Amino acid sequence: MVFALIFTMLLLAILLAYDFWVRFGMRFIADVCLRDLRSQIFLSYDDGPASSSMAWGDSIKDAQRLKKTILDIDPGWRFEATTTANLARVLAEFDRRAVFFIHGENLETDRSTHEVILDLHHAGHVIANHSFSHTRFMHLTKEQCIDEVRRTDALLRGITGQAPVLFRPPYGQWHFSRTLQMWRRPSLCNYALPLGWSHATRDWEMTCADLSYEKIRDKVTQFLDNVRSGNSGTVLLQHDVWIYAVLYTKVLLEELCNHPEIRIGEPSLLVDHAQRITESAKRWGGLPYYLKERGLLLKGRLRSVSRIQR
Ligand SMILES: [Zn+2]
Repeated sequence: MVFALIFTMLLLAILLAYDFWVRFGMRFIADVCLRDLRSQIFLSYDDGPASSSMAWGDSIKDAQRLKKTILDIDPGWRFEATTTANLARVLAEFDRRAVFFIHGENLETDRSTHEVILDLHHAGHVIANHSFSHTRFMHLTKEQCIDEVRRTDALLRGITGQAPVLFRPPYGQWHFSRTLQMWRRPSLCNYALPLGWSHATRDWEMTCADLSYEKIRDKVTQFLDNVRSGNSGTVLLQHDVWIYAVLYTKVLLEELCNHPEIRIGEPSLLVDHAQRITESAKRWGGLPYYLKERGLLLKGRLRSVSRIQR
């Protein structure tokens, strides 16, 4: 009997240790971290800034064909400008700010993007790190991962004169040990927990057929229903290299004028919040944060099971 108990406890401890080390990426998880920022949407854009030669992403011909549709949704669209520049204009029009997760390689291949970053920085947007080459971190060694963060970090500091605080790994893939390793480096210890997202518009899957005011408005309405019924703040993931993301943002900000109960959160608030959560997560090697995350996950699963049984 005693042996069986010891064996079970040991097995449980091994399973917990395995889960902690292998599956727990120690990310900033909206459900866990943004509970006191309910009804706030934090806009975030990855993979930019769009290069001047890639103003239309992959779909230059289709987009030219869709000029009229684009102008119907956003009459101020500047066809000579990049998607990032058009997005910055839309955000300025509504006096809203966002987090831009920068793909470092873009800064090296196209120097004109430096000015875009500086304009975003001066407009009050938060400039954040999204690795250098956008390779899946699972395919890289620990040293290569850190190098990916370090290279983009140096480029961004060189342009804005400020050290970035937020980091988002490509495809959201990350591992706990990488976070610890980052924090051991004096130049990277200012980074908060890697920031995930709680809703994605899946703009990377959208085709020209999805560029219609009605379709985008339907998606925005669905999203706002989710935000309204959610228990925590929302981090919205989009990519400023796609036209869809700019038009979705435009429709979303227009719609929000009719919904004062939902706000676009200031990204500086998200940075402060992330820093506070990170400080508490750093204590005890992240164990309390891990237990809280797993506890809430379990609670959510149990709730969905009880809903099915009802
Ligand atoms: Zn990305």
